[in-house]
Amino acid sequence: MSPPRQAAGVPSVLSVTWERALDLVFPRRCVGCGAFGDFMCEACLAAVPRAQPPRCRVCWMPVLSSAEGPSQAETCERCRLHPPAFKAARCPFVYAGAAREAVHALKYDGLSAVAGTMAEAMAASLAAWRPPVAALLPVPLAGGRRRSRGYNQSELLARELSRLSGLPLAGRLLVRRKASPPQARAADESARRANVEGAFAVRRSAEPALPLLLIDDVMTSGVTLDACARALVTAGHGPVYALTFARED
Ligand SMILES: [Zn+2]
Ligand SMILES: [Zn+2]
Repeated sequence: MSPPRQAAGVPSVLSVTWERALDLVFPRRCVGCGAFGDFMCEACLAAVPRAQPPRCRVCWMPVLSSAEGPSQAETCERCRLHPPAFKAARCPFVYAGAAREAVHALKYDGLSAVAGTMAEAMAASLAAWRPPVAALLPVPLAGGRRRSRGYNQSELLARELSRLSGLPLAGRLLVRRKASPPQARAADESARRANVEGAFAVRRSAEPALPLLLIDDVMTSGVTLDACARALVTAGHGPVYALTFARED
């Protein structure tokens, strides 16, 4: 009898055993202070600034609270003038301290196991936020970059989040046609927009259009998430929401 096929996103006994074996060979160390135990120790986790209100209800950028006190309904000027194609974006952390270290470890040091710890924080944000979405969709990486890294960090986060939240993955609906230079290096907004212009395409799918949650590691200016959402909405999908691990304030 052949073993039953593993449902996507469900951890198998084998992978848990494997994880324990890996922990013995490569004990977990905090990405912030190097202490053994967890990828983000309690002290470093507590020190990371949380992305808390008052923030723009669309892009989650900090907004000044009005005299009457912070308003959840506030929208920043940028979102009022140029509304993004996504309905709203959220994240647990500001891109700083151990949150920045975790992203670096995942993206540049090949520490793929840290994705589980990162996804736990994202799952908590998702549970508090509860956007009306039916599936998760990672922001794709261009083929070359994926090959050199060996994985797409957004896909790892989406897979872990799927396991934690029970939301399915929307498959490979989005394709990245070209790699964009890291957003941090593109100085102004128009240069950032030009970088992602036409970068994403939507695969034809027989599946019905669903409200989607885009998953990425960091939101910098939001133009990447906007470009993904625009491609999806244009192809008849959505509405689109976005969840990242951190954002640059
Ligand atoms: Zn630490
Ligand atoms: Zn905004």
